[in-house]
Amino acid sequence: MDILEQITQEAKKAGEFITEKAVIVKDYTVATWDAAEIRNRIEGLYKSIGKAMYLAHTTEADTAEEIDGYINELISLHEALKEKEAERQAIRNRKVCPACDKPIEKGNIFCPHCGTQVK
Ligand SMILES: [Zn+2]
Repeated sequence: MDILEQITQEAKKAGEFITEKAVIVKDYTVATWDAAEIRNRIEGLYKSIGKAMYLAHTTEADTAEEIDGYINELISLHEALKEKEAERQAIRNRKVCPACDKPIEKGNIFCPHCGTQVK
């Protein structure tokens, strides 16, 4: 369990009220960290490919298979990054009622929970 998840669980156990906005901020932070981690892994693979290419050109080492492996991993990671960015955007699009702080749909005119006009 990561630290943000732990804080959320602890606060819930203690009976503290966690606002929907705080949940959105937490989810967004987690997705941002995940995206950064994927980017770091992508950069690491680019370095590994560079090193393998260097070895192939300066020694007798056959690194073609190794490079293929890195490229396959890169393709998956770029796909994962795309999905993570879409997830971040979806979190950004989440709305909460300004009166009761409960989640609402984007096109809502009235809050379905408390009836406050939200548009
Ligand atoms: Zn409301």
